[in-house]
Amino acid sequence: MTVRTRFAPSPTGLLHIGNARAALFNFLYARHHGGKFLLRIEDTDRERSTQQAVDVLFDGLAWMGLTPDEQPVFQSTRQARHAEVAHHLLAQGLAYRCYCTPQELQQMREQAMAEGRPPRYNGYWRDRDPSEAPPGAPYTVRIRAPREGETTLPDLVQGEVRVANAEMDDMIILRADGTPVYQLAVVVDDHDMDITHVIRGDDHLTNSFRQAMIYRAMGWNLPAFAHLPLIHGPDGAKLSKRHGAQSVVEFREMGYLPEALNNYLLRLGWGHGDAEILSRDEQIQLFDLDGVGRSASRMDYAKLLHLNGVWLRQADDARLANDVVERLAGRPDVTLDDITRARIQALMPGLKDRAKTLVDLADSAAFLGRHVPLSFDAKAEKLLTPEARTMLGLLARDLAVIDPFDAPTIDATLRRFAEHHGHKLGQVAQPLRAAMTGTTTSPGIDATLAALGRDEVMARIGAVAQ
Ligand code: GLU
Repeated sequence: MTVRTRFAPSPTGLLHIGNARAALFNFLYARHHGGKFLLRIEDTDRERSTQQAVDVLFDGLAWMGLTPDEQPVFQSTRQARHAEVAHHLLAQGLAYRCYCTPQELQQMREQAMAEGRPPRYNGYWRDRDPSEAPPGAPYTVRIRAPREGETTLPDLVQGEVRVANAEMDDMIILRADGTPVYQLAVVVDDHDMDITHVIRGDDHLTNSFRQAMIYRAMGWNLPAFAHLPLIHGPDGAKLSKRHGAQSVVEFREMGYLPEALNNYLLRLGWGHGDAEILSRDEQIQLFDLDGVGRSASRMDYAKLLHLNGVWLRQADDARLANDVVERLAGRPDVTLDDITRARIQALMPGLKDRAKTLVDLADSAAFLGRHVPLSFDAKAEKLLTPEARTMLGLLARDLAVIDPFDAPTIDATLRRFAEHHGHKLGQVAQPLRAAMTGTTTSPGIDATLAALGRDEVMARIGAVAQ
């Protein structure tokens, strides 16, 4: 059997991290077993399913590196097929027409509740002769659900799950206007797409029992189910806005790398020994559903931030430089020409060492694209005392003539200069850093000067020296 999994999001305008994690698990499960990962857009709610909402899903998945192996299936294009299955069940007597009006159904519910029973459909038309139907009246199609016994489903995460059949009523599969319901659409699509494993949030567990009825009525093989516990907020409550970011786009904008978000979402609720930092290849190699925990996971934003720092340090400099340039675009105080780009790239090893997010990284690189006179923050201003300015003027004479103007030569020059003038290295480096950056933090001063280049270093010292 070739494993075929699918991610089946409804376009809501955002890719929630809970859904992104379901997509990741489906992707990894398929890859691990040499199978295929598919995408189905559940866009039957035509009002919500705008092109924009669909694009959010495509963009988010592409950013996460979770692209499907086949063309995405759009559920809305398959309604005729869904209805065909309902009519087949009707023809076989496995489903029936129900002529109850909305008022009658309402009465049925009220009566059940008054009698202390759950408000379910009472099977009024289940065994009634169709000749009793009011002529020309609209009808829904209901599946003939088993009434006795129980339905059990083996679940690859939850173990065996079961429900008494008496708990389920004859659900509608085709509405009065002839349109298929969601449960029917999901089953028919999963069957037609040859899905072998349905891996989704455990909020769908009840749906699985309902869907199992349709599979059984059609005589189709059930896929294997795996219901993933949901992601909760740090306090254990349902994850919501007040906890922090929830959608993939938000994390991207906050400067997270997709590797870090993937790594974090994987580790949230799945474990393999103490493995923490896992590349995509390692994830594929190690992932299986037996490592998925059964209890809800709690979102730990601090841990995600930490992982992001780890992934930033491993990321390619040119790629980070490109991202930083994009993030700096439009800042009025920063010139983004080839010179600035080259400086950012040159200083990237030092910059990425200190950053936790791409936003931090861009902020810390901005000084490379500024021009004299720089503006100084209060701490930098304090360092630039008259004595320090005089000292920088002297230092400029040494820096003007060294060759090559690279980090090791600059470092040696600063040390020599400090020693010669009876200063500690920091007494030279700190005011120099203030003059170069307008702040008191930067990567190593030698690398910072080398990245700026001699002309710019001279200009920046010149702007403060006395
Ligand atoms: N469209 C459903 C959702 O977004 C998922 C359905 C499924 O995975 O079967 O929650």
